[in-house]
Amino acid sequence: MRRPASVLVTGGAGFIGAVFVRRLLDAFPDVAVVTLDALTYAADPRRLDGVDPARHRLVHGDVRDGALVASLLADDRIDTVVHFAAETHVDRSIAGPDPFLATNVLGTAAVLEACRAVWGPDPGKRLHHVSTDEVYGDLRPGAPAARVGDAYRPSSPYAASKAAADHLVRAWARTWAVPASIHACANTYGPGQHREKLVPTVVLGLASGQGAPVYGDGRQIRDWLYVDDHADGVIAAITRGEAGRTWHLTADCPRENLGLVGQIAAILDRLRPAGAPHARGIRHVEDRPGHDRRYALDGASASELGWSPSVDLETGILRTVRAVLADDPTGRVAAGGAPADPV
Ligand code: NAD
Repeated sequence: MRRPASVLVTGGAGFIGAVFVRRLLDAFPDVAVVTLDALTYAADPRRLDGVDPARHRLVHGDVRDGALVASLLADDRIDTVVHFAAETHVDRSIAGPDPFLATNVLGTAAVLEACRAVWGPDPGKRLHHVSTDEVYGDLRPGAPAARVGDAYRPSSPYAASKAAADHLVRAWARTWAVPASIHACANTYGPGQHREKLVPTVVLGLASGQGAPVYGDGRQIRDWLYVDDHADGVIAAITRGEAGRTWHLTADCPRENLGLVGQIAAILDRLRPAGAPHARGIRHVEDRPGHDRRYALDGASASELGWSPSVDLETGILRTVRAVLADDPTGRVAAGGAPADPV
C-alpha cells in the first residue's frame, strides 16, 4: 500500500475536494496537505474550518500557473497530487464555455507539465485526476453502463472539457511516463455542495416556498454517490491503486431527477410539516439544450481498490437536507441533529 506523505489537493476549497482533505488528514495522521485553490465563486473556505493548520495550508492560486504548481511540488516535497480543481456547473458551461476550457483543459495541462518537470517518470509519485461519468455522454435506457475504456461522447462544454483533460492525462502518462491515474465518478451529493447544484437548489427552493425548477419532464436518470464515499474512493485510489489505471466510482444508485426531487419533498414534509406538501413547489421548466437522459457507470473496476460505498441514498439525502437547511457546509451540525435554521 502506498502511504502518501505530502499531498497537493487542487480545488480543495470546493465541495468534494474539502471533504477529501478532511478525510485524508483523518485517515493518515502523518500526512501533510497543501490545498491550491483559486477561490472562485464555487469555493467556500468554511468547508475547511477546523482543519489542523499544523498539517494543512491553503494556497490561493490558479492551477494554470504552472510555475506556482511546480514550486509547490518542489518546496513541499509533494509525492501525490489530487486534481479536483475545475469549473463544474454544466449550465454555466453552456452560458459561457471559456472558463471551462481555461481551467479544465489548460489548467490540467499546466498541472501535468509541472509534474513532468519536477517529478519526471518517478514511479513513487502520483498524479490522480478526478473525472466524471459525463465524459461518456448520453446512454439509452437499458443500454449497458459505461465501462472503463468505452468511447467518450461528451455532450456539454463541461463534459467535453473534462474529456479533454482525461485525454491529456493519458497522453502525458504514455509519452513521458508521468505516474498518473484517473477515476470517473457519478453525481456526487452531500453537505456543503454549492447551492446552484440540483440537491441544494431543490431543498432551498421547496423549503422557502419559492419553488424548485425541474428541467423538462424530469425523467433524466442520474447515479448518486455520497460525498464521503467519493472522498474515500479517492483515498483508496492513491493508496491501493496503481498508476496507469482508470476506475469508476459508483454507488449503483440510479434515480430519475423527478423521483429524487419527490424524495427531498417528502423529507421536508417530515422536517418542516408546516410547509407540507412541499411537492406542490415542483415546477417543470424548459429543458437544458443537449441535456443527456442517462448516465451510468459500470463499477467493476473499483473492486481492485477494495472500495465500496457505505452511505445509502436515503441516509445521505436526509443528512444533506438537514445540512442545507442549517447552512452547515461541513455537515457536522446536521449530523449531530441540531435543529435546522429557517431558510
Ligand atoms: P466545485 O465546483 O465545488 O469546486 C471546484 C473548486 O475548484 C473550487 O473551490 C474552485 O475555487 C476551484 N477552482 C476552479 N478553478 C480553479 C483554478 N483555475 N485554479 C485553482 N482552483 C480552481 O466542484 P466539485 O463538485 O467539488 O467537483 C470537484 C471535481 O470533481 C471536479 O473536477 C469535477 O469535475 C469532479 N466531479 C464532480 C462531480 C459532482 O457531482 N460534484 C461528479 C463527478 C466528478
